[in-house]
Amino acid sequence: MARVIETFCDRLQQLVDIDTPSGGVEQERVAELLAGWLAPLGCRTEWVEEPDGPARSMVIALPGSGRGVVALLGHTDTVFPAGTVAARPFRREGIRCFGPGVADMKGGLVLAAMAMETCAARQRPFQELRLLVCADEEVRLRAPAVSVHAAGARAALVFECARENGDVVSARKGAVWRTMELTGRSAHAGADTARGRSAVSALAHEILRIEGLTEGRPDMTSVVTTVAGGTAANTMPGDARATLDIRSSAPADLEHALAQLGAGGPYDGVTIEIIDRGTWPPMPRDERLTRVALEHARELGLTVGEQLSGGVSDGCWTGADGVPTLDGLGPVGALDHTEAEWIELETVERRVQLAARLIEL
Ligand SMILES: [Zn+2]
Repeated sequence: MARVIETFCDRLQQLVDIDTPSGGVEQERVAELLAGWLAPLGCRTEWVEEPDGPARSMVIALPGSGRGVVALLGHTDTVFPAGTVAARPFRREGIRCFGPGVADMKGGLVLAAMAMETCAARQRPFQELRLLVCADEEVRLRAPAVSVHAAGARAALVFECARENGDVVSARKGAVWRTMELTGRSAHAGADTARGRSAVSALAHEILRIEGLTEGRPDMTSVVTTVAGGTAANTMPGDARATLDIRSSAPADLEHALAQLGAGGPYDGVTIEIIDRGTWPPMPRDERLTRVALEHARELGLTVGEQLSGGVSDGCWTGADGVPTLDGLGPVGALDHTEAEWIELETVERRVQLAARLIEL
C-alpha cells in the first residue's frame, strides 16, 4: 500500500509542478514523463500533431496477446496560467493532495499509467492498450486529432477525477456554445428616436426565445450567460452581444438548438450574427461497462455509484464515435478549476485495480 502511494505522489508531484496552461507547449513535458515511466514495459510512443497546437498529443501503446484495442484518455493542460506552480506547488497533507491540476487531471494521468503497469505484469488480453495523452482539452472546440487512435476500440476509459463521493461518470451532456452579436443603429434616445434601431431590444426578445428552446425537453438546459449592449445612457443602443450555453444528454435536443439558433426575428433594422465557440456531443451511457465497473468496485470494497455530468470531456468524442466510454476513473477529488482543488489517496490503490480490471474486460 505505502509503496504504491509513495510512487503515485512522487509522480503526481512531477506532473503538477510543471505549469501547463492550455495553449502552451509545456504540456509535452507531461507526456514525456509518462512515456518515460512506461518505457520499461516496452511501450511504443508516438507524437500526434494537433491542429490547434503548438502542443502535440501522444499515444503510449502497450502490446498485448489478446484482441481489440483499449483506450485510456487523459489531458495535459490545466486552467491555470504560467506562474501558478511557483505560487502554490504540489502539496500533500495527510491523505489529501493539492496543487494546480491534481484532480483535473494530472492525478488521473498518473493513475492510468499505474493501471497500465499493473496490466503489463498480467495476461494482457488485448491487442494493444493505448494511453491517449491529449493536449488542450480545456479550450479545444473539437475532438483532439489523437482520438483517431481510439476509433473502433473495445472501450475508452477516461481518467477525469471520480466525484467527491466516489462515483464514476457514466454519461455526459453535450454542449453548444455560441456568441450572439446584434447590430442595429445608434441614435439620440430622445431627439432622434425614430431613426434608431435598438440591438438591446432585439436581444431581450432573443434571450427569452433562446432560453425557451428547452420547452418540452427535460434533459436540456439553455442559458444566456452574459449580456452587454449600448454605449451611453442617453443613446439608443446600436449593438449588443450575449453568450449562450446550451446543453443536453439527448443529441436531438442539441440538433433542435442548432436549427433554431438563427431562427429569431425578424427585428426591423437589426442583424444578428452567431459565432461558433464549439459543439461537443453528449457521451452516452454504456450499460455493460457501467454495470461491470460498479460490480468490480464493490468487490474491491469501494463505494462507487454513477452520475450524469453536465460538464464535457474528451470522453464525449469517443462516446459519440460509438466506442463504449466510461469517465470519472481518476482519483476521488473535487473543486476542479479552483485553488482549493484536491484529491484523496486512500482509494488510489484500489482505483488502479479497478481500472486494470476494466482494461481486461
Ligand atoms: Zn479535465
